[in-house]
Amino acid sequence: MTETKPAPWPLARVQALVNTVELPAGPDRLARADEAAPWLIDHGLLSAGASPTPDELEFLREVREGLRALLVHNAGGAAPGPRALRPLRDVAQGATALAGLDADGQVTLSASGDSLRERLVELLVVIRDAQRDGSWSRLKACANDECAWAFYDRSRNHGGIWCDMADCGNKLKNREFRARRRAGGAR
Ligand SMILES: [Zn+2]
Repeated sequence: MTETKPAPWPLARVQALVNTVELPAGPDRLARADEAAPWLIDHGLLSAGASPTPDELEFLREVREGLRALLVHNAGGAAPGPRALRPLRDVAQGATALAGLDADGQVTLSASGDSLRERLVELLVVIRDAQRDGSWSRLKACANDECAWAFYDRSRNHGGIWCDMADCGNKLKNREFRARRRAGGAR
């Protein structure tokens, strides 16, 4: 899937996970193990030939919604509650990242384990780096709560709130307009 507002690498890994489902009732790439496996392998969350268990997939979907809650907050919405944070805390507590050095002397941090749960720690490392370099606050969930698609806000004033103005922005404006008209007279 090509994003119209893609995050820079590696923050795009977080965006890609959040955008594995089209809310409110669209297709979910993480619904079934046979469909999820190729995506997870492509995105570095499973090793080649592996397949997720139903429990792992359920956990991953909870992690996805926990991440989305963080992006709602980045977009000016409410801070994530303990329930939204719990799966992310479980990732943090259940896995370790190993420091390494690549050939150029760049320090790397990667998951010490190979399971899906263990590999998810790499996304926390990505988030931590993005929080330090300032790019994190630009990764947001669309303000249309029926959409909540993850997009990267490249606007100069960091004020973007729609995944796509032509789509969500106008749709919501029309909805508000109709609601106002119902409430008694268009302005
Ligand atoms: Zn949207």
